[in-house]
Amino acid sequence: MRVIDLWNNNSHPTLSFELFPARSDKSAEKLELVIDDLAGLKPDFVSVTFGAGGSTRDGSRQLLNKLINEKGLNVIAYFAGYGLGPDDTTAVLNSYQDLGIETILVVRGDPIEDNKFQPHPDSMAHATDMISFIAKRYNFCMGAAGYPEGHIEAESRKKDLEYLKLKVENGVKYIISNYCYDNRYFFDFVDQCRSTGIDVPILPGIMPIFSIKMMNTLSKLCGATIPREITESLAGLDPDDREAVENYGIDLATRQCAELIRKGVHGLHIYTMDRSRPALEIAGRLRKEGLL
Ligand SMILES: Cc1cc2nc3c(=O)[nH]c(=O)nc-3n(C[C@H](O)[C@H](O)[C@H](O)COP(=O)(O)OP(=O)(O)OC[C@H]3O[C@@H](n4cnc5c(N)ncnc54)[C@H](O)[C@@H]3O)c2cc1C
Repeated sequence: MRVIDLWNNNSHPTLSFELFPARSDKSAEKLELVIDDLAGLKPDFVSVTFGAGGSTRDGSRQLLNKLINEKGLNVIAYFAGYGLGPDDTTAVLNSYQDLGIETILVVRGDPIEDNKFQPHPDSMAHATDMISFIAKRYNFCMGAAGYPEGHIEAESRKKDLEYLKLKVENGVKYIISNYCYDNRYFFDFVDQCRSTGIDVPILPGIMPIFSIKMMNTLSKLCGATIPREITESLAGLDPDDREAVENYGIDLATRQCAELIRKGVHGLHIYTMDRSRPALEIAGRLRKEGLL
């Protein structure tokens, strides 16, 4: 599947989910159930993350293989090039090609805080370089990450957009955005992309809140703003009442998704964190409303 064909041919917004490879046998068992739940929703595709420095290289490949060959799902394979030399990069991408994968998303990945990890001396510094490298050697339908609130290290929003534009000029055919909790960031980002000349589909990423601690940790890492309305609403809940927090996250994400669809996005990409209940609830409610 070349993901761009889905958006060219589909009249409805696509539904897709991000998964990451299991880190233990126990989480692999849980993941199997999650995949079956999500597959029951008949998503247009699922994506699989790739640990920077190749840390999930085997796990990502195994998961992709399972999704394609056992579960019959369309996939997007992420590739995070940080720390890998050209030979490792081509080895990973060749193995994806051998699996029949046609769509990838290329990101830099984040430097690994582990003294034992030595980045390859020829590792590329930015996703822009990785994208040019791949475009010259492969025929993947290639995507890149977008940041509605700007990337956390960006010199400026303008520079960030210029680099994103360079990615498109170098062969990127679609963008998946980082999550934000206020759709206005996403809509403004799309407007800024369009006025910069970035004309490829931009798929919004949705991160349903399921734990206050996790929300704070992830948002700090990626620079996503937590609007005051959310902080205040969550302050009224017992942080240990996991169901109440998750239900709040589902309601919020469903409202966000409904607005995004009404404003005409190409689809919804849900960051599942390898959990199925939020995705099942959100998709179920949107379908009931006739939005998906
Ligand atoms: C949809 C999505 C999926 C992701 N999947 C993964 C994953 O599977 N594995 C993983 O490890 N991480 C993943 N990430 C996280 C990502 O790796 C980090 O956000 C990382 O910090 C930046 O990646 P990038 O591709 O945007 O990097 P880059 O494009 O390299 O940008 C990083 C910073 O450098 C700047 N920059 C870009 N190009 C240049 C240039 N040529 N010269 C100078 N500065 C430049 C940018 O403005 C930005 O501030 C994902 C993020 C998103 C949004």
